[in-house]
Amino acid sequence: MSEDSLFTKIINREIPADIVYEDDQCICIKDINPQAPTHVLVIPAKPIAKLADASDEDKALLGHLMLKVGEIARTLGVEDAFRVVVNNGAGAGQQVFHLHLHILANKSFDEGSLGMR
Ligand code: AMP
Repeated sequence: MSEDSLFTKIINREIPADIVYEDDQCICIKDINPQAPTHVLVIPAKPIAKLADASDEDKALLGHLMLKVGEIARTLGVEDAFRVVVNNGAGAGQQVFHLHLHILANKSFDEGSLGMR
C-alpha cells in the first residue's frame, strides 16, 4: 500500500498544521511557505493526486471545494480580491500530489496577469 500523502497526514493529525476550516469532505490550512499575506490551501479528504485525475464521481466534491473557497474567502475577509491556483503536475509546479486549491490574497495582482513567464 502506498504511503499517505502529506495532506492526509495533516488531516489525520499526524503532522501539525494551522487549520482554518474543516468538514467531513475537506480541510483548509495556512500554507507553511506563504506566497502572499493570505495564503491558504483547500484540500479534499479524498487523496486525488492531481486535478486531471478527478473523475465524474468527484463532481460533487469538486463543487463542494469551490463553494468552500468562496465561503473561506468571506471568513478571511478577502472575498472581493483573491486568486485561486491549482498546480497540476510537476511541470506546472505541483509539489504535493494530493489535490489542493491555493487561495492567495492581500497582495497586488497584475491586472490580466497569471504570473507566468
Ligand atoms: P503545490 O506546489 O501546488 O503542490 O503546493 C504545495 C504547497 O504546500 C506549497 O505552497 C507548500 O508551501 C505547501 N506546504 C508544504 N508542506 C506544508 C505543510 N506541512 N503545511 C502547510 N503547507 C505546506
